[in-house]
Amino acid sequence: MPELAEVETVRRTLLPLIQNKVIAKVILWYPKIVATDHTAFSRQLVGKKIVTIDRYAKFLEIRLSGHLTLVSHLRMEGKYRLTSQATPKGKHDHVEFVFVDGSALRYNDVRKFGRMQLVPTGQERALTGINKLGPDALTAAFTTKYLVAALHKKKKNIKSTLLDQTVVSGLGNIYADEVLWRAKIHPLSWANSIPASRLRILHDEIVRLLKAAIAAGGTTVHSYLDATGRTGGFQPQLKVYGHAEEPCERCQRPLVKIKVNARGTTFCPHCQKEYLWSPY
Ligand SMILES: [Zn+2]
Repeated sequence: MPELAEVETVRRTLLPLIQNKVIAKVILWYPKIVATDHTAFSRQLVGKKIVTIDRYAKFLEIRLSGHLTLVSHLRMEGKYRLTSQATPKGKHDHVEFVFVDGSALRYNDVRKFGRMQLVPTGQERALTGINKLGPDALTAAFTTKYLVAALHKKKKNIKSTLLDQTVVSGLGNIYADEVLWRAKIHPLSWANSIPASRLRILHDEIVRLLKAAIAAGGTTVHSYLDATGRTGGFQPQLKVYGHAEEPCERCQRPLVKIKVNARGTTFCPHCQKEYLWSPY
């Protein structure tokens, strides 16, 4: 599943391929990918130019002329690729944006879970559920002070807290396990019991890890590809994800895999400290 680093990599690789292109036609082979009115979606996009692409958490915000923003969430396996209009439709191609120059942007999604929405620019956060998310981990709003205050109120384990996106948005299962290992925090620690000194480390590790993952072009575990069809290059830097029962790089004792709220979670029980809830 693409996480923040992968969506950012898609943004960076997709932008030079489609910037300044003008949409001539939109084909919806599987209209349910579009969460808003399908006819209006296609009609409003005709004649619009791709201005730039922004990202918030795992949402791509494709900025168009006419003050429109196409918000796209790839969910499990959504992918974009630039091809030509003449290329035969692939089995899992669901949406096509044909440009006036004859090239075409195809949206492909094996699971069909991804969603697109066309909204007036500036209203994307209110209209798409983005405003329910905590700050994007790579924005200025995500400070150590913010993280300490937000976790102070969370009476559940830190792994689930990082995944629920309301404290910080952009960490999925892979990077949540990785940051907890790097910050030496046991995934079952109570979020509100981790000392501020340790949360400072967690904050810095989140930012450092995401930047490193983006620099490497993301992580490919199942099927993620960037907009140029390349897989991510971050896998060799994963310390725990996919390494259950192998020795921990720090202490050489075996890593353990458990389920935390139904999500596979790999960690080192020896060097990741468990902070337990205490009423005192
Ligand atoms: Zn260890």
